[in-house]
Order: sequence, then C-alpha cells, then structure tokens
Amino acid sequence: MSNDEKRYDGSETDIKFVKRCCDIDPYDDDPNVLRAELSCGHVTAPQTLTDYCRIQLEQGKPELICPKCKQQWSYIEVRKLAKLTPEEHQNFEENLAKNAARKMVDIKNVSILPSHLLSSHVLKVG
Ligand SMILES: [Zn+2]
Repeated sequence: MSNDEKRYDGSETDIKFVKRCCDIDPYDDDPNVLRAELSCGHVTAPQTLTDYCRIQLEQGKPELICPKCKQQWSYIEVRKLAKLTPEEHQNFEENLAKNAARKMVDIKNVSILPSHLLSSHVLKVG
C-alpha cells in the first residue's frame, strides 16, 4: 500500500514547503520528500499528518493538537496540509463533531458539581 502514500508534488498553493525531516514521525526522514511547515512551525508530510490526526480522532479528541508543542491545528489547515480525500473530509468532520459533542456533555456533567460547591462556598465567605 506504500504506493498509495500521499505526497506533495510542489504544485499545492498556500503551503510552506520545507526540506526538513518530519517532526511528527521520526522515521519519516527521506530527504527527497517534500514536506510542509505547519502553523506551529513543525514539519510533516501529508500521509503522516493524515495518520496522526485519524488516530487522535479515533481516541476521541475533539481537537487536532501538535504532538510536539501541543498547539492546536485548525481543521482547515489539516485538511489542506494532509491533502484529505473527500472520504477523509467526511470522516474527519464527523469525528470532530462527534468528539466535540461528547466533550460538551462531559463539561456539562462536571460543571454541575463544582458550580454547586462554588455557590455554597461563596455564601460562606460572603
Ligand atoms: Zn508543533
């Protein structure tokens, strides 16, 4: 399946190409492969970025975060730099929405207790 691996061909617009080894996958160090610089300054190839982000989403992450510096990547950026296929667009968007919804439910459930405790605390102090 390695023939199916995504590559930049250099014709992509709005991508900052660099000739550095991949920061996300240390084994991705072929010097002849075009890589792109992410908004956070780290370097990736499209296949690495696709695989990494898919794993994040499968783990239930509502955001796509750089493993190196923990900066959040926008979905628009990932879609462009990972050269997502239409199927991957759909898959990523569904998972992002699903994970974000799940996170909101978590926050809601958690916030019931602290706000209750907080108000009784405020009453005591006041
Ligand atoms: Zn980074």
